Amino acid sequence: MKLLNYNPNIIAVSKTFSDQAIIPLLDYGHVDFGENKVQEALQKWDSIKKKYNNIKLHMLGKLQTNKVKHAVEIFDYIHSLDNLKLANKLAEEISKKGKNIKIFIQVNLGDEMQKSGIHPSELETFYKNCCLLKLNIIGTMCIPPENSDATIYFKNLLNLTKKIGLNEISMGMTNDYLEALEYESTFLRIGTGIFGKRTN
Ligand SMILES: *Cc1c(COP(=O)(O)O)cnc(C)c1O
Repeated sequence: MKLLNYNPNIIAVSKTFSDQAIIPLLDYGHVDFGENKVQEALQKWDSIKKKYNNIKLHMLGKLQTNKVKHAVEIFDYIHSLDNLKLANKLAEEISKKGKNIKIFIQVNLGDEMQKSGIHPSELETFYKNCCLLKLNIIGTMCIPPENSDATIYFKNLLNLTKKIGLNEISMGMTNDYLEALEYESTFLRIGTGIFGKRTN
C-alpha cells in the first residue's frame, strides 16, 4: 500500500461496549466515536459528553424518523441519511435546536441485499433536495455487503462522490479499511479492530 497524503478520521465504533471500555480512549484524547442506536447513544454518551466536551459522536445506524429529535440532541454527525422524509425531519429538528450537524448520504451501490441507501442514479437529485432543505451534507457513506469484494463498492462511491462535488467519504471498517484508504476514504468506522469482538 502506498503512503497516504492525507489524514483520515478514525471513528471508534463503541456500540455494545460500556463506559469502562471507552474511557481509556477518551483519556488518551480520541475524539470521534460511533454508535448505531439512538437509545444506546443517549444512555452512554449524555454523561460522557458533559465530561469530555470536545467529543464528536457519529450516528452510523439506520435512523427512524421518530428518533430524529433525540438523535439531533446527542449526535454531531449522521452517516445514514437515506430518504427524503428523514431529510425533512432532520432539517426541522436541526433548525429548531440551532445545531450544526454534519451529514452523509448513505448510498446503496446496487446490491439487492442492501436495504438502506439512495440509489446511485438518484444521488445527485437527492443531494440537491437536501441542500434546498439547508442540511449540511458533507459527504457520502456506504456499507458494502458482507463477503463481497469491497473495493468495487469503494471505487464506485469515490467516483459518485467526486461527481457531485463532495469531499468526505465514510467507508471502511475493521476488515476492509486498508482498501477503503486506497479509494480516499476520509472517515473510517472501526469497531472490532479497536474494542475487540462484540458479544451481542
Ligand atoms: C458496527 C459498525 C461498524 C464497525 O464494524 P467493525 O467491523 O466492528 O469494525 C462500522 N459501520 C457501521 C455502520 C456499523 O454498524
